[in-house]
Amino acid sequence: MKRTEPFEFYQPGSLTEASRLLKENGPGGRFLAGGTDLVIAMKEKGLVPKYIVDLKRVPGLNQIRENGDGSITLGALTTMYAIETAPLIKKKYPFLAQSAAEVGSIQIRNRATIGGNMANATPSADTAPALIALSATAKIAGIGGERTISLEEFFKGPGQTVMSSDEILTEITIPKIDSRLVGEYIKFSPREMMDLAYVGVAVAYNLNVPEKKCDGVRIVLGAVAPTPIRAKRAEAALEGKVLTEGLAEKAGQIAAEEAKPISDVRSSADYRRAMVGTMTKRALLNAAVGPAKSWYDRRDRRY
Ligand SMILES: Cc1cc2nc3c(=O)[nH]c(=O)nc-3n(C[C@H](O)[C@H](O)[C@H](O)COP(=O)(O)OP(=O)(O)OC[C@H]3O[C@@H](n4cnc5c(N)ncnc54)[C@H](O)[C@@H]3O)c2cc1C
Repeated sequence: MKRTEPFEFYQPGSLTEASRLLKENGPGGRFLAGGTDLVIAMKEKGLVPKYIVDLKRVPGLNQIRENGDGSITLGALTTMYAIETAPLIKKKYPFLAQSAAEVGSIQIRNRATIGGNMANATPSADTAPALIALSATAKIAGIGGERTISLEEFFKGPGQTVMSSDEILTEITIPKIDSRLVGEYIKFSPREMMDLAYVGVAVAYNLNVPEKKCDGVRIVLGAVAPTPIRAKRAEAALEGKVLTEGLAEKAGQIAAEEAKPISDVRSSADYRRAMVGTMTKRALLNAAVGPAKSWYDRRDRRY
């Protein structure tokens, strides 16, 4: 790892100040959250920011709160470890906690933030599919004020989002869920740990028991397109229907057709596409069974 080039370092105490620093200092600045992407980019990938604006001293950005309307808000600086272990998240959306638990190692999860995972916009970002499956929204603040957009529309391409360079992702809100909601996130990476997803699949739907009829189906694919994508035709194939193994298989086949994978050093496009089919089927069936008790449990259920 090489030493970084010298850079100016700011630690503002408010969002307005943070955003103003980017605006006033001009191009070439970066916000810093946990640093698990940014520092690697500087030390290994030749990124040379002119200056860095650390967000960690801005108060209130690292909290998880339940709102009066039943929605839940995750501050952008909430760590993966906090999400993985928060009783509220584990109870309401265990598959989101699971997706955070899939990130890197415990050391990485102690620093890596949910906002950094979104803002860095890697197509394989582990928490993005589960958040999109939960219809989450992103609040973005800049000098001109605040705006809220659906997370589904947040990503524009690898490393690109709708945010301008002086805008800050401040929080992510998950709207109130139906009490029948079930879900699952499956990450496929042969190394199991400390590896990015070759394919990630999150599913969420309302399950009517005992007949197993599904509604509000969302299927979201990671690492198989320039951004996380919804497999809308696969969702439609399941909507209002009784979940059977055959139907889950069919939905998986359709999702595989909807994926737009590339071949790279990790995997061929064909292999990724085949894995989308298998994993979508498995995620749909796993979700109906209920959350696994532990990571080890889940490992057995995975493929
Ligand atoms: C060894 C290792 C293993 C990893 N494994 C995984 C993995 O399994 N799955 C996975 O998804 N990721 C993985 N990652 C990537 C990384 O840990 C995550 O993407 C993490 O969530 C990034 O968050 P951060 O707080 O560290 O972001 P930072 O590195 O601080 O920032 C990343 C980028 O986002 C910008 N940014 C950060 N926060 C904000 C904000 N609030 N508003 C606007 N811009 C912002 C920064 O300017 C920077 O460009 C791994 C990284 C390492 C080093």
